[in-house]
Amino acid sequence: MLSQLDLATTINRLASEIANDVADLNPVFVGLLKGSLIFMSDLIRQLNFPLTTDFLSVSSYQGTTSTGLVRILNEVEHPIANRHVILVEDIVDSGQTVHHVIAHLRLKNPASIRICSLLDKTARRLTPVAISYIGHQFTDGFVVGFGMDYHGYYRNLPYVGIIKGASENPSAKSDP
Ligand code: 5GP
Repeated sequence: MLSQLDLATTINRLASEIANDVADLNPVFVGLLKGSLIFMSDLIRQLNFPLTTDFLSVSSYQGTTSTGLVRILNEVEHPIANRHVILVEDIVDSGQTVHHVIAHLRLKNPASIRICSLLDKTARRLTPVAISYIGHQFTDGFVVGFGMDYHGYYRNLPYVGIIKGASENPSAKSDP
């Protein structure tokens, strides 16, 4: 779906959009593990201003895409009160993960929270979320590579591919 060149071009664009907004704000980039790991590391290396990084682990919900619980498994390490947060996600699908994570982070009184997602899978959104920085939108299909997995595999692919026939299978939700 996205070649290495596509990804590099996309990440350059996202980096300049983000720089325009927060270059002077000493932002903290919070990556959602594990899917955002590669995206986050490429993204922050395109940013030429002071920033800090942190990570959150969330459980993937199981068996269903509509009613599953999103649990925070690991806390951010550093205080984010009064900081401008960029939440970095690999893919927003139903929207439930980022919805829960934002509610969780808001309790820590950040100055602002903006979402940056490499992919925005629009067709199955259940919870509306405002994504400030979107790499690519697409409607259907289960994607892997560039940090995203299928039962724990394929994260190491340097491009983003689609697994044929996996999109209809809710149990194919990734392992975070
Ligand atoms: P949401 O809570 O928005 O439904 O799902 C977000 C999470 O589900 C993502 O962070 C990712 O872990 C997983 N996910 C959703 N769609 C896909 C996909 O097409 N491929 C992979 N590998 N993971 C996905």
